[in-house]
Amino acid sequence: MAKARGVPSLVLEKDACVAASWRERTYERLRLHLPRGFCELPLAPPFPPGTPPYPTRDQFIAYLDAYARAFAVEPRLGARVRVAAYDAAIGFWRVTVVEDTASGAGARGGAMASSSTETEFLSRWLVVATGENAEPAWPEGVEGMDAYRGAVMHTSSYKRGDEFAGNKVLVVGCGNSGMEVSLDLCNNGAATSMVVRDKIHVLPREILGISTFGLSVFLLKWFPIKWVDALLLFFSRLILGNIDKYGLRRPKIGPLQIKRSTGKTPVLDIGALRKIKNGEIKVVPAINCFTENGAEFVDGHREDFDAVIFATGYKSNVPSWLKEDEFFSESDGFPRKAFPHSWRGKNGLYATGFTKRGLLGTSYDAAMIAADIAHRWTKALAGPATAAAHDDSSADLQQHQR
Ligand SMILES: Cc1cc2nc3c(=O)[nH]c(=O)nc-3n(C[C@H](O)[C@H](O)[C@H](O)COP(=O)(O)OP(=O)(O)OC[C@H]3O[C@@H](n4cnc5c(N)ncnc54)[C@H](O)[C@@H]3O)c2cc1C
Repeated sequence: MAKARGVPSLVLEKDACVAASWRERTYERLRLHLPRGFCELPLAPPFPPGTPPYPTRDQFIAYLDAYARAFAVEPRLGARVRVAAYDAAIGFWRVTVVEDTASGAGARGGAMASSSTETEFLSRWLVVATGENAEPAWPEGVEGMDAYRGAVMHTSSYKRGDEFAGNKVLVVGCGNSGMEVSLDLCNNGAATSMVVRDKIHVLPREILGISTFGLSVFLLKWFPIKWVDALLLFFSRLILGNIDKYGLRRPKIGPLQIKRSTGKTPVLDIGALRKIKNGEIKVVPAINCFTENGAEFVDGHREDFDAVIFATGYKSNVPSWLKEDEFFSESDGFPRKAFPHSWRGKNGLYATGFTKRGLLGTSYDAAMIAADIAHRWTKALAGPATAAAHDDSSADLQQHQR
């Protein structure tokens, strides 16, 4: 968006493609959780005609590819930001990037030798867009995890259920990913158990033919959040029945209030609940410890499993590379200020995509950031002293190879 306003920019991406999180770290059966109208990017044309209300993963990747082409967004791929810090002496951010280089066949035609180069960029403005889901989050301190001999993975590496056909699989976690992966496993002939440790809200994806998310957004414009929560829970009970008896205990606080205060998203059911009700997906309590071949649960029962899939969420990786702790919290890697004030820090630092509000929140941040930087850029160009310095539009972005 800043580019559309004439500001030169460089996008750094550690992976080898655009939309890497969706391409590399999602499962094949994934569809957008929210209706497509709430997932459009700023300035973009709507999804092509014929796109279903909940686009598939491939359709969404195609949409992101088309967006990058339309706006000539050409990230420097394979460029991992190792460290970024503000240099107050020069008023620029120093951003050190590591890139792997394959340096031809080794001696006697052996394997390719690989090395890496480091490049430092200087930039007046730094937009952090590494996402809320940059790294898989693994549970800490679960006893016996190292001793377990079966297959272990995180949902970020899970691709398809047929790889587990005929296996006994334990899915740890019951958010949207845990529910969907359990459903996929079950549909592909895996005997699936799902760990439900905490209380959760499960809502139907649609109420009276309207998306639950869209309905909530609309009602929140008119009514207090408590009333909207009460209505959502009323319809959920009507449509889904009492889910407590299947081991899915609802929190006392409503789903939207929880989302607002903690960022925890309610599960939007796309079929897993039916499988839980008919016993095809077995609900098990929290894990006490892992054993060599399976797990022991807090109710004392033990079971063997061929594989364990952790659906335990994701975390920000910002503290690992950004040397700044005033705007970003070091403990969770999110801006300390909540939406809608989480997009701008000090010294030309910005953040997009950390609002816990999906692509809608990201779009809001992006529009605010682009307008703010464009304003500062235009002002800098207009100033007589700085105008000279900016004769070459790349002056704000300099590169030093090491
Ligand atoms: C299973 C799942 C389903 C979802 N469904 C929806 C939905 O339906 N609607 C919705 O609005 N949201 C949904 N979300 C949330 C969704 O992930 C985000 O809305 C969206 O992808 C976030 O975009 P982003 O650009 O902020 O982060 P990402 O898409 O994660 O992009 C961040 C990029 O930064 C790169 N990166 C990270 N660290 C570095 C580094 N040090 N150097 C260089 N590059 C780096 C990563 O490789 C990645 O390409 C879903 C999330 C998940 C996990």
